[in-house]
Amino acid sequence: FNVPNAVNEPVNSYAVGTKERQLLKDALAEARAQQVDVPMYIAGQEVRTGDTVSIRPPHDHQFVLGQYHQGTKAHVTQAIDAALAAKANWESLAWEQRAAIFLKAAELISTKYRYKINAATMLGQSKSAYQAEIDAACELIDFLRFNVAYMSEIYAQQPPANAKGVWNRIEQRPLEGFVFALTPFNFTAIAANLPACVAMMGNVVVWKPSNTQIYSANVIMEVFREAGLPDGVINLVYVSGPDAGDVIFKHADFAGIHFTGSTAVFQNIWKTIGENIHLYKTYPRIVGETGGKDFILAHPSADLKVTNTALVRGAFEYQGQKCSAASRAYVPSSMWPALKELMVADLASFKMGVTEDFSNFINAVIDEKSFDKLASYIDRAHASADAEVIAGGKYDKSTGYFIEPTIIVAKHADYETMSEELFGPVLTIYVYEDQDWTSVLSIVDKTSIYALTGAIIAQDRYAIEEATVALRNAAGNFYINDKCTGAVVGQQPFGGARGSGTNDKAGSMINLLRWVSPRTIKETF
Ligand code: GLU
Repeated sequence: FNVPNAVNEPVNSYAVGTKERQLLKDALAEARAQQVDVPMYIAGQEVRTGDTVSIRPPHDHQFVLGQYHQGTKAHVTQAIDAALAAKANWESLAWEQRAAIFLKAAELISTKYRYKINAATMLGQSKSAYQAEIDAACELIDFLRFNVAYMSEIYAQQPPANAKGVWNRIEQRPLEGFVFALTPFNFTAIAANLPACVAMMGNVVVWKPSNTQIYSANVIMEVFREAGLPDGVINLVYVSGPDAGDVIFKHADFAGIHFTGSTAVFQNIWKTIGENIHLYKTYPRIVGETGGKDFILAHPSADLKVTNTALVRGAFEYQGQKCSAASRAYVPSSMWPALKELMVADLASFKMGVTEDFSNFINAVIDEKSFDKLASYIDRAHASADAEVIAGGKYDKSTGYFIEPTIIVAKHADYETMSEELFGPVLTIYVYEDQDWTSVLSIVDKTSIYALTGAIIAQDRYAIEEATVALRNAAGNFYINDKCTGAVVGQQPFGGARGSGTNDKAGSMINLLRWVSPRTIKETF
């Protein structure tokens, strides 16, 4: 690539005694001491409505970190107008000028904002130091740098042939209108990348983050502004989903949506866009990453320790709140007694608590709604004759939304927690008879509507090949002898099909191509 730094950002461990650990602790203390007053950003202006909502850490919900200002439909209209007003200047910039802004943002996070954005992610979204580092620092930096590299490739691509006396060219135009970025709480990097990669390609954006990620979204905006992003290119609003939808999906200049969130919300959006299709100047680009019910399948030849590590890390890191998290596993009966012992011992050793104590592996789930949903599934598992809770199974929301990492063993492969998305630290295991291996492949394929990530753990090459073929459509990211989380930008482009999304791989050229509309130009001499 003819652009700088398209390499993965090194990950800090924050190990005891390191300078980085102290700097991160200082940033956490500073954030706690401050009462941040978070505005919306429209046309580069800070907008404070006075209609405020408190921001609280999910692991310490009595504590107030600050407040954000909520807007209304009128602010969505203003954000669209600001985006459209910024469009002509923004798209007239050479792509290198736009790229430089995002490379500078990456550099700012790497050097100046690393601890601040990690601290915001730890406090606002209840991520551990390491989970914050691989997300808000490294993945975000990687998205920016690699997407600039892919962008440079996209602009370099031209038709390979010209007839005599003719010059054929392709012009990668930004979309005609504005793009809506609707972003999730679970990755600060995704929340930043969805608007950023759209803007990079010359588009203007209205960005609505999840209400539970606003605290770190504010830091992202600070970085983009300091990096030199012109006013109005990305407009950040805090409004309800229906208020945003009512304005955006009825606007003639609506040109696309870049979404990560639930399958139900995405399906509704798709329907709404369909109903309003006659209103738009152009067919909107609909790009979304949605739910998952990600699997780990162990073959009788699987290595025990590899299986255990894949399961406990894949299922419980960040409280299972990654779209990629392992939430159903299939284990051969010959392996189960030994695996059960290892897993139960590991779970018993995990400390649970606030993110500021770095020895806690498990922190809180994002909010009360998520807590209540998880608690109800756990209650039903406790009561059901078809399920046995073999680890965890307790929960407490008195100070924070804490759910113990929980393992359910399902008697039937179609038990509710084998197929429904829970989005939390609950793993369900189905133990199969070794000789039923082949039929298990089809059970894995058919049990859920999703197809985001999955893993096969096996040493037998024939089994690996069999699973790779049989589960071809069951996961957009397929792992062999590894956990099913932790895709790295530039290494494993991320996304799934079926109920999991449009599979326009985050952190890839495929994704960036959705945000341009090519014009073919033929000039005859
Ligand atoms: N890319 C992340 C991973 O591989 C998951 C992204 C998500 O949760 O949406 O773990």
